[in-house]
Amino acid sequence: MRGAGRRRGPVVAERTVGFDRYRVRPGQRVRLDRVDPEDTSEFRGGKRRAEATLPERRAELDRLQELFYADGRRSLLVVLQGMDTSGKDGTVRHVFEGMNPQGVKVWSFKVPTPEELAHDFLWRIHRRTPAKGEIAIFNRSHYEDVLIVRVHRLVPRSVWSKRFDAINDFERQLVDEGTTVVKFFLHISREEQAERLRARLQDPRRQWKLSAADARERAYWGDYVTAYEEVLRRTSTERAPWYVVPANHKWFRNLVVSSVLVERLRSLGCRYPPATVDLKTFKIR
Ligand code: AMP
Ligand code: MG
Repeated sequence: MRGAGRRRGPVVAERTVGFDRYRVRPGQRVRLDRVDPEDTSEFRGGKRRAEATLPERRAELDRLQELFYADGRRSLLVVLQGMDTSGKDGTVRHVFEGMNPQGVKVWSFKVPTPEELAHDFLWRIHRRTPAKGEIAIFNRSHYEDVLIVRVHRLVPRSVWSKRFDAINDFERQLVDEGTTVVKFFLHISREEQAERLRARLQDPRRQWKLSAADARERAYWGDYVTAYEEVLRRTSTERAPWYVVPANHKWFRNLVVSSVLVERLRSLGCRYPPATVDLKTFKIR
């Protein structure tokens, strides 16, 4: 990279737009086996430099979040999806750690409760969407209802196949009402997943993270790939795009996610509201 030694941070800052190449164009067919989960683009071999820029990127994100909250006219919904161990929790921790908890909410969607199952699949989702000024992060989401539900035939095809339209309508409505929607698919390889599961198995502090499902779901890798490819092709829109994030390298994953969010937040042109009092006559006695 040009001038990398001298211009550490700024080089990266100017390059945030470059991550647009990970955005899935509407209708685009993504073949996941042709997307390299090892990809670190121009940061190849540049882990140390990239890691040095992450705190700066995060600080920028925190500034933007504060402004977003103060502006209070829009909402931001961030959807995180990916295979087991793809790094959804890690992304939440590393990318959003410095933000003001007042304006940021994280929602993890697990196996639906009986009450949730008694409703339409968007019911539990809609109640967690962000209010004005808020950022909501979905750790898994309504997309599970066309992923695990499809792979394990939890409902008939005739039911889940209609959900792509339902999801697009739902997201369009959110966008029309002032929500920015950004969706990330954290793309790891099957080998990387094996590594991460092995690491969990060996680390007493992480063994609790292992679930019976992790071993089971791995056998369905190919079915998940098929299901994800259809999700990407049918639900990446101009207004609510998917990004396929190469995620074998955690530092690169964090860099892409935080950069895309910085870019999106900047583009909103948020402003601090004007003072509601007359500053010239306001007296503090
Ligand atoms: P984790 O994210 O590791 O805590 O696991 C949550 C589990 O809940 C995953 O296996 C998900 O696939 C599963 N899950 C999430 N949403 C649904 C859903 N709508 N139907 C069935 N399983 C779900
Ligand atoms: Mg899990």
